[in-house]
Amino acid sequence: MSQVVPPPPAGSSLNAARRARELAALADGGEVDLLVVGLGATGAGVALDAASRGLSVAAIDAHDLAYGTSRWSSKMIHGGLRYLAKGQVGVAYESAVERNILLTRTAPHLVRAAPYVLPLTPDVSRAQGATVMAGYRLGDALRAAARTPRGTLPGPSRVTAARALELAGPLAAGGLRGALLSWDGRLVDDARLVVAVARTAAAHGARVITRCRALRLSGHGAWVRDEETGDEFAIKARAVVNAAGVWAGGLVPSARLRPSRGTHLVLRAGTLPGLRAGLHVPIPGESNRFVLVLPQHDGRVYVGLTDEPVDGPVPDVPDVPPQDVTFLLDVLNSVVSVPVPRERVAGAFAGLRPLLAAGGRTADLSRRHAVLRSADGIVTVVGGKLTTYRRMAEDAVDVVVRERSLSAGPCRTARLPLVGAPGKGGAGPGNGSVPRRLAERYGTEAHAVIALGKDDPSLAEPVATGIAVTRAEMVWAVRHEGALNVEDLLDRRTRIGLVAEDRKIAESAAALALSNAWKIRGF
Ligand SMILES: Cc1cc2nc3c(=O)[nH]c(=O)nc-3n(C[C@H](O)[C@H](O)[C@H](O)COP(=O)(O)OP(=O)(O)OC[C@H]3O[C@@H](n4cnc5c(N)ncnc54)[C@H](O)[C@@H]3O)c2cc1C
Repeated sequence: MSQVVPPPPAGSSLNAARRARELAALADGGEVDLLVVGLGATGAGVALDAASRGLSVAAIDAHDLAYGTSRWSSKMIHGGLRYLAKGQVGVAYESAVERNILLTRTAPHLVRAAPYVLPLTPDVSRAQGATVMAGYRLGDALRAAARTPRGTLPGPSRVTAARALELAGPLAAGGLRGALLSWDGRLVDDARLVVAVARTAAAHGARVITRCRALRLSGHGAWVRDEETGDEFAIKARAVVNAAGVWAGGLVPSARLRPSRGTHLVLRAGTLPGLRAGLHVPIPGESNRFVLVLPQHDGRVYVGLTDEPVDGPVPDVPDVPPQDVTFLLDVLNSVVSVPVPRERVAGAFAGLRPLLAAGGRTADLSRRHAVLRSADGIVTVVGGKLTTYRRMAEDAVDVVVRERSLSAGPCRTARLPLVGAPGKGGAGPGNGSVPRRLAERYGTEAHAVIALGKDDPSLAEPVATGIAVTRAEMVWAVRHEGALNVEDLLDRRTRIGLVAEDRKIAESAAALALSNAWKIRGF
């Protein structure tokens, strides 16, 4: 019996034809209630929040969905333990609440509980171990306060050295007196969260337009350039939110930021064999900072992260300096039995945290977010983190609605499943009926992605040997996820591009998907 495959939610598909149509309507002078500038997690969140309250919304990005910092994160949906350690109880609680919303309601397909092992090596004193465990217990209390069930996010425990080695095979056994095991939320892919939020906003009527750069903002709209054609025109709006992340100060100079660079290394599957849990590796000489070793769903492992202030012009894509690679490898190699040499590092990426300017080290700056108003009425929302994008959006839209006397309902996003989420009481495709990798990336839409490959078996094939992504996924991204070019496909809809060699061998498949996406049957 053939299975009925549901189409994507009405209005959620983003593609070149829709972009052209909606851009033309805006260029024609149609005024919207709200213009959002920037389509990272924050801007996409603002677009969804406003559209789901009934406002008319246009949201633009100079490049692509998740082009900025939102694709360079550690992909943790964290309960704010780090903030607790600094006495920032409010920030920590907010994180725990937002983690609960993502894990249990809005994006359970994209966010899962993941285990982390902190090895108790001779470098970790008993007092340090006890302090960290006390912190984990406080984090568990926050979990309970945020009403996340233990079954969803297990509590911390101390485990034996043998158990630590079962979970994290690459650890050096010598001198290991056990480990601390803790759990936190982890995203399958940060860029996919942004795509899901943006598409959900589109399903609520938001015009989500990539490749459209704001050149100048005012309280009543923006002068923009279509980066595909070079055409310039005005977008009129009753209110404007600047969600341009680390670039926000370039549009509204009174928004003062202090960017800080975070670097991750990318290791291929097999470089750290037997790694089933993440690692928290204490940084020598620091009491509460760790290098994170993060196994990914595709088998790759990220090792991060640094926290270094960056001065001067903000680049589109930050470079990775060699000293960051050395630092991360040194800390990793302090706990593994077989050191990872530099030539085994398959890739590296860096992102800039959009931290609010203040004195002191960037590592100590608050991750609290802020909603700032400029003299001409532009609302800028910055700071914060991926985990709290929804709350940032809610706060920004509350301010806009109040100050511009817009007619809007209350915020609904805490209960609004994102595209691909199973919805209340619904079952996702996590029951083994589709490959786990697709269930985790596409949720309820996995069946429709697979169906493309049933209509045309060549689409069920991986894009290249050794890469799990199928050609159908690329076609899906062109038809429904707003991918307009090869870069969108390789660097954001899939993360193939994180390893330069893989990127090269997948380029032709991406080009083919772009030229053929509309010639085949299926959704
Ligand atoms: C290394 C690192 C690791 C992190 N890890 C985590 C983590 O594990 N968990 C977590 O919760 N948080 C994490 N964070 C923080 C989190 O990633 C950021 O706070 C968040 O992604 C910022 O999102 P944003 O939407 O505000 O900015 P961005 O994602 O940078 O989006 C801004 C967008 O604005 C667009 N734009 C810029 N100028 C213009 C213009 N003139 N016109 C139109 N568009 C424009 C850009 O193209 C970009 O897409 C991490 C940050 C870093 C740097």
